[in-house]
Amino acid sequence: MKNPNFCGNCKELNITEKEQDQMGQAGKEFPHKCELYGKRVYHLDAHPNIIRLPECIKATEQAGARDCSDKDPRNP
Ligand SMILES: [Zn+2]
Repeated sequence: MKNPNFCGNCKELNITEKEQDQMGQAGKEFPHKCELYGKRVYHLDAHPNIIRLPECIKATEQAGARDCSDKDPRNP
C-alpha cells in the first residue's frame, strides 16, 4: 500500500486534531477544514491523522518547495 500523506500540524488547518481534543465534545462535532483550498479534510480510517487533499499533495509535488506540514511524522 502506498504511504498516505497527512495534514499533520499544517497551518492551513482551521483546527488541528490537538485543538479538537482540547475542545472536548464540541471539538468532535467541529469538522477539519483546509483553509488554503477551502475544503473539508477527513480522517477516514487514518485517525488521528488527517488525509491531505489530493490538490495539496499535487501542488507540493509540483512546487517541490512548499511543505504543508510543520512536522513530517516520518521525520520528527
Ligand atoms: Zn479530528
